Amino acid sequence: MPAELVCIAESCRARFPVTEIVYNCPRCGGLVEAVYPRQECPPDHWKALWRNRRTSNAALDQSGVWRYREFIAFGSEAHAVTLREGNTPLLEGRGAAGYGGLDRLVFKHQGFNPTGSFKDNGMTCAVAQARRLGLRRVGCVSTGNTSASMAAYASAAGLDPVIFIPNGNIAYGKLAQALEYGARTLQVEANFDQILALVRRLADRLGIYLLNSINPFRIEGQKTIMLEMMDQREWRAPDWVVVPGGNLGNTSAFGKAFREMREWGLIDRTPRLAVIQAEGASPFYELFRSADHSRLVANPHPETLATAIKIGDPVSWPKALHEVLSSNGTVERVTEQEIADAKAVIGRCGIGCEPASAATLAGIRKLTAAGTIKRDADVVAVLTGNVLKDPDYIHRYHTGTLEDPAGRPIRSTYGNAPEVVPADDERIAELLAK
Ligand SMILES: *Cc1c(COP(=O)(O)O)cnc(C)c1O
Repeated sequence: MPAELVCIAESCRARFPVTEIVYNCPRCGGLVEAVYPRQECPPDHWKALWRNRRTSNAALDQSGVWRYREFIAFGSEAHAVTLREGNTPLLEGRGAAGYGGLDRLVFKHQGFNPTGSFKDNGMTCAVAQARRLGLRRVGCVSTGNTSASMAAYASAAGLDPVIFIPNGNIAYGKLAQALEYGARTLQVEANFDQILALVRRLADRLGIYLLNSINPFRIEGQKTIMLEMMDQREWRAPDWVVVPGGNLGNTSAFGKAFREMREWGLIDRTPRLAVIQAEGASPFYELFRSADHSRLVANPHPETLATAIKIGDPVSWPKALHEVLSSNGTVERVTEQEIADAKAVIGRCGIGCEPASAATLAGIRKLTAAGTIKRDADVVAVLTGNVLKDPDYIHRYHTGTLEDPAGRPIRSTYGNAPEVVPADDERIAELLAK
């Protein structure tokens, strides 16, 4: 069986060669996913092979994505360009565990990636695919991290990156990266969902290969986040994996990863997935709680300061819904205040993350309070982005000047404002003695 793209709709199941450009199924409009050949081997063979590659100096072995290339075997590794993505740590957050109502909490921190977010895990795969297809120009619509990552990987691979971003409401750390990595950057006067529709119309006409999360190869790369986590945990599955939900590519990727790990015999049990959304951008939460699971009602005006999850019409919802339901998982939503406070608590653990990532801890706090997650559960929360992505938010929170999108003040519950002091030994000694 060669690697193929398969429509996920039960009623369609159309198949396409991986060398064709397919975002949505041309027959039914459904989402497609990559399927690929698997060599029959005992699970211990793979575990040993992947572990041994950690000591190798070969570029692909040093990548926390391509190290697991048998698990993303759609035939593009010969075209891979790596910035040594993945390789992200599992970090224990003691203060965060208590705040979240847990005995113990571990973060899988994707902010340790080369461009500071998990987008790198997927981007290295999708850019390899672009090179394999012989395409020169790649593009994406992004509220930030996708553009930062695409700019870096496309430039490293010698391709032409074009970025479409909403005008205003973007974290400066991310825009700065896109510019620095040399992407042609167009700020379009519309919101994320409107721009996505526009760019999909333009992609064919302008010969742009789209690297948004609808791209099935990004999902393939993001599977390795869970594979690496399991490798780090000696293949013991946690009870819960908690992840923020925007376009829901990560949720889809994690679910697919666990399904395939079971098929390969690498694990014998699947963790439950908990997806956390921001209240002002929570269409997937609404869908999950509603009786009718057949149709997601988009929010035309998503609002949250956590710009990475400010998505009103998430493209990957059918995949994500399937994964959450089949893992016996759940979906929760949290307020701006809850995100801001959780973020400061993660910061005080010496770990730090960007706002969207902190939705995980805020969600855990609610889910333990409701009894959905037990106090002694084994929980891994995925921190999706680096603390330095959005410094403006941090400064405002700690100085008590942060406002939610409606202009209501956010309390700096764990505020830590800088203090202005005279250059006077006595006064400073006095101040620090308190
Ligand atoms: C992209 C992104 C998300 C949202 O992930 P989805 O896969 O779109 O659900 C969350 N956090 C950060 C930091 C991101 O960059």
